[in-house]
Amino acid sequence: MFGIEIFSDKSIRDDERAMIIKAAQQTAVLYGCSFIVKSDDRWSEEGHPDIPDSCSELMSEVPCDDKGRKNVSRIMDLMTEVRRALGKQGAMIIFTAEDLFLKENWCFGAARVGKGVSVQSICRFRDLPKADMQAVITRTLRHEVGHIHKCAADPERPNTEMKYGRHCTSEGCTMRQSPTLKDLLRHAKEEDPENCLCELCRADLKNFKKDNY
Ligand SMILES: [Zn+2]
Ligand SMILES: [Zn+2]
Repeated sequence: MFGIEIFSDKSIRDDERAMIIKAAQQTAVLYGCSFIVKSDDRWSEEGHPDIPDSCSELMSEVPCDDKGRKNVSRIMDLMTEVRRALGKQGAMIIFTAEDLFLKENWCFGAARVGKGVSVQSICRFRDLPKADMQAVITRTLRHEVGHIHKCAADPERPNTEMKYGRHCTSEGCTMRQSPTLKDLLRHAKEEDPENCLCELCRADLKNFKKDNY
């Protein structure tokens, strides 16, 4: 079984972690993978001399830009070092309430395709009604987990678009791009959380599993 560990930094509240747990349960059904949602921010009991002790410490090593946002590429570089130092086989995800950006644009989150690291922000979800907030947390998680599984990663594949990363264009598929909160909310509501990968993305998932599970 491909294990995905979810960490949250100190900006995430307990009620928000409960939403992340629910999101992970539905996403596990969709991908057939297992999740561990950590109740604290530490990677392991022992730690390691070359890396920050916790994801809060890792996040504090990444400075904010003049708009108060943190660079996802820098965060995922540090996560890649942590993953290597600890010899983790599956994937690691950090949830934060810090606002994030990729290149010049703010973003909900990002993942390194097939590389087992992702960071996701709830910053722009905090003003939503609770049910909507749950829906978009779940949608962001399942979308980024799709990138971790190399869904829609092949530009030669039909129904693939290359805009902010590679995405699927199939109707109802969770690997579609959601550039605004409005798009994200619409996608979150129209997709079936436990069955929203198109046939092409399901085939990509199957290929990834052949090599990695
Ligand atoms: Zn994406
Ligand atoms: Zn798809």
